[in-house]
Amino acid sequence: MLRGPDQLMQRSGDLERSAQFALSFADTLDKSLGQRLNQSSYLWTLPCSNVRVSCPLCGTMSCFLVRSAREVERESRFRARFVEARLGYPPSGLEAMDLTQFMHGGPAEIVACALCGTVRRYEEQTAQYESDRYDNALMRHLYPRYLDAFALKRAHFQTFLPASAEVLEVGSHVGAFLEIAETWGWKPVGLDVGRDTSAFARRRGGSV
Ligand SMILES: [Zn+2]
Repeated sequence: MLRGPDQLMQRSGDLERSAQFALSFADTLDKSLGQRLNQSSYLWTLPCSNVRVSCPLCGTMSCFLVRSAREVERESRFRARFVEARLGYPPSGLEAMDLTQFMHGGPAEIVACALCGTVRRYEEQTAQYESDRYDNALMRHLYPRYLDAFALKRAHFQTFLPASAEVLEVGSHVGAFLEIAETWGWKPVGLDVGRDTSAFARRRGGSV
C-alpha cells in the first residue's frame, strides 16, 4: 500500500534518479554495442550460449552476448537495493509494479543480432501483460512524469511525421504518449493488452 504524500514525493525523486541512471546505463550499453559492431571479430568471439530463435528484424540466427543472465540478475539486485534504501522498506504487491517488479524482470541474456545489431532479451517464458495489475493511485501519481518525458522528445519525434499524421502506438501503456502526440497535431491510437493500463488511458481520453 502507498504510505502517504511525503513518501510519494520522495519516491518520485527516486524515480527520476532511477531514470537518469537507466539513461546513463543505456548510453553505456549503446557505446559498448557500437564498439563491438565496429570490431567484427567480436561478432564471432562472443556468441550467445543457447539462443535458438532468429532475429525478429532480419531473421539471422547469429548473435553475440551483450549482458549475461548473471549480470542482469546482479543489476536487478542492485536496483532492488537502491529502491529499498530510498523508500525505507521493500515495496511489495501493486506498489512494486514497474519499480522492482517487471513483466520481463527475471534474469535473461541480453543479446544483439550479429548482422543488424538489434538488441533483445532472450527468455523462454511467455509474457502475460493482459493480467498485469496496476494501482490506480500510483498510475495517477506517475502519469505527469510520463507526460513530461514524452514532451521532451518533441524536437526529435516531430521530424518523423507531418501534422495530422495517424499514429499507432503498440504497447501504449497508460497513454501518456497518446496525449502528448495529440498536442503535436498527430492523431494517435494506442494498442495494448494491459487491462488496467488501457482502462486508465481511456479514462484520460485516449483512443486505445
Ligand atoms: Zn538482425
